[in-house]
Amino acid sequence: MSDVKMNIQMVDLKTQYERLKPEIDAAVQEVLQSCAYINGPAVKSFKAHMESYLDARHVIPCANGTDALQIALMGVGLQPGDEVIVPAFTYVSTAEVIALLNLKPVMVDVDPDTFNVTADLVEAAITPKTKAVVPVNLFGQSCDLEPIMEVAKAHGLWVIEDNAQAIGADYTFKDGHTQKTGTIGHIGCTSFYPSKNLGAYGDGGALYTNDEALGQQLQMIANHGQVKRYYHDMVGVNSRLDSIQAAILDIKLAHLDEYAAARRSAANYYDQAFAGIEGLQTPARDPKSTHVFHQYTLKVANGKRDALQKHLQEAGIPNMIYYPVPLYKQKAYQQAMDQQIDYLPVTEDLCNSVISLPMHTELDEPTLAHIADQVKAFFQK
Ligand SMILES: *Cc1c(COP(=O)(O)O)cnc(C)c1O
Repeated sequence: MSDVKMNIQMVDLKTQYERLKPEIDAAVQEVLQSCAYINGPAVKSFKAHMESYLDARHVIPCANGTDALQIALMGVGLQPGDEVIVPAFTYVSTAEVIALLNLKPVMVDVDPDTFNVTADLVEAAITPKTKAVVPVNLFGQSCDLEPIMEVAKAHGLWVIEDNAQAIGADYTFKDGHTQKTGTIGHIGCTSFYPSKNLGAYGDGGALYTNDEALGQQLQMIANHGQVKRYYHDMVGVNSRLDSIQAAILDIKLAHLDEYAAARRSAANYYDQAFAGIEGLQTPARDPKSTHVFHQYTLKVANGKRDALQKHLQEAGIPNMIYYPVPLYKQKAYQQAMDQQIDYLPVTEDLCNSVISLPMHTELDEPTLAHIADQVKAFFQK
């Protein structure tokens, strides 16, 4: 065991910034000088670069990822009481916006290996009131979206991808062609929260779609329901990406693939270090998706997760439990759900067995070795 004292972080935004500091500082200065703080050239430039990176017809920048999900649901014309299928194992935003719009979140279980919803789980939850499904590309890997799209098509459902954790991931279809996650459903939503794979230095988000009419609709909703200024065709929201954030994101977007590669290489290191440890499951890699490792999430068997967490905490290794409580057990969602779910076995098991290790773009080998040693030491005790 090493007794190296290291200042390890769950996410290291500082070093990442330092690498791009001259470029980012200059871009921020430029916005400050221009005074075009809202909808300035930086926003238009970032929007265009995102459209070409994603190969998406329309990217609509907005204020955050939660707003993106809300605008998406508003954009497909759902009525109060309509059912929207979501995984129970996700961040709260996914269900929050559904409840907020007086829609009914119908929570379903996830796959025990990829932690993502599957077409079968979605199909089993469809009722005559189902109008949409929000698959979440969790932890940086695409859901198996092709069969989900087929089920949705057969039942006339909208598919809104929550792509907050998987920006940049590629999904491969049966015919061999690939598409970026978020551009496969009717609408994709993402977040530029600082710790996300493409993180701003404040809040930010975006929607993407390949549907021309839908793109116009989403843009209009995000801008107070107006196309022509002061003429409001519908009730919208005010959700914008600041010019300063857009300028920062525009620079970072050019590094996104390199960031994903750095994350993957850290994940590969962990995978190898933990191979063969009994009772420890490393993240499954779906051959249909590249993995951009928003999180590196282990499954710990035999009820030992909390003990591992304690061991890591004592050793100064940051870690997080994403997510400790199934959404249907959250007090806020008891009422919104109307049907009472007691137990989704995979979700319950994951909430009790997962733990995420430090994952970011700046993990060097000594740091990874130190983290891996501490994890291994726990299992050798
Ligand atoms: C981060 C996140 C969001 C929300 O993004 P914000 O920008 O924080 O509003 C939504 N869904 C998932 C899965 C997320 O991880």
